[in-house]
Amino acid sequence: MSFSCIRLSKIGFLLSVIFCAILLLLIPKFQTNWRPRNYPQPPPPVVFNASSKTDIPLQQVESSSVDHLEDETPNIVPLVKEEQIEKWSHHITDTWRSKLIANGKMNDRPVNPLHNVANDHVGPAEVSAKEKLELKDIFIAVKTTRKYHKTRLNLLFQTWISQAKGQTFIFTDWEDQELRLRAGDHVINTNCSAVHARQALCCKMSVEYDKFLESGRKWFCHVDDDNYVNLKNLLHLLSGFSHSQDVYVGRPSLDHPIEAADHVRNDGSTTVKFWFATGGAGFCISRGLALKMSPWASLGSFISTAERIRLPDDCTIGYIIEGLLEVKLLHSPLFHSHLENLQRLHSEAVLRQITLSYGGPENKRNVVSVGEVFSIQQDPTRFKSVHCLLYPDTAWCPSLMVK
Ligand code: UDP
Ligand code: MN
Repeated sequence: MSFSCIRLSKIGFLLSVIFCAILLLLIPKFQTNWRPRNYPQPPPPVVFNASSKTDIPLQQVESSSVDHLEDETPNIVPLVKEEQIEKWSHHITDTWRSKLIANGKMNDRPVNPLHNVANDHVGPAEVSAKEKLELKDIFIAVKTTRKYHKTRLNLLFQTWISQAKGQTFIFTDWEDQELRLRAGDHVINTNCSAVHARQALCCKMSVEYDKFLESGRKWFCHVDDDNYVNLKNLLHLLSGFSHSQDVYVGRPSLDHPIEAADHVRNDGSTTVKFWFATGGAGFCISRGLALKMSPWASLGSFISTAERIRLPDDCTIGYIIEGLLEVKLLHSPLFHSHLENLQRLHSEAVLRQITLSYGGPENKRNVVSVGEVFSIQQDPTRFKSVHCLLYPDTAWCPSLMVK
């Protein structure tokens, strides 16, 4: 009896040793399956070889190691579906393509529908509707500051904002009773400081982003207070996409991506290249994509992302979207800032654009050419003339314009 007990316990001991050995062999297998989702951490400081509209000093700052998006992020899908590329391919002429290839500008980027659009005057009429979108689905954030309430902002209220009161939100830095009476809770006092400095501008963008998420609307569009927004064309462009797709659309201010030092990436490189849409021309982001930006953009984290990489607000948006989420900017020629020569835009094409701008006091002549609705003295920015051509019934437009 005792003998068989000893034998039994020996067998039991041996069995448990074998069981443990099998378990030990299986552990690595389980580990790979259980590896947590590896989202990139806030990025390291960067070295640039390009600058945005706010000049970025060439700088080298200490770097920290961060993980990068790996294969475990299947929800981050490429922006442009094949059929859309097909649909847009006729906009990409051979000459334009070969010019870009010759200049080495198409080496590392897939072609996407709005990118490299050959004709600067391709209108949104050529985008086929994908989603029944209404103006109320869009959240238009206008960035302004105390000193421009009476001048720039008033002009916008008189013109395009009058047609989009329900979708426009003003982000400023001062409590202005007059403005409050005019726009009510569509004025957001960000309490950010009233200076044209990177931190202050990023502070405003951070509030814009949070307010957009809160609003539940389908599209986030940001513009400056020196932009005219052609609402119909904006709506038409965005209708070509679904808001649950990853869409980031706007105009890059450079003809090449910014290159920044980064952690060692999957492909072994140590720099990250990304395009960004210049804030001064306006840009839009779909809700689907905005939600994915949340770890680096919501509830103040936008400020720390911008601070960490020491970039202006518009570059930081590009960094989060292209650099971290690996979603490509759709390059659209329909957005305009005063960084470009606005006179080059043909007068018949002006009304087909999505945003316009003007040069300001130091470059008064940089305005769009538009028929003589008002003289340049009466309408130095040309926004009133554009508005009367688009909305001839407006009370203050010349009566001759009413059909
Ligand atoms: N801005 C601001 N705070 C400032 C100065 C400007 O928020 O102290 C805003 C301004 O209202 C505009 C944007 O920043 O929406 C860009 O300013 P501006 O057009 O004067 O300069 P740009 O960068 O276009 O040359
Ligand atoms: Mn400006």
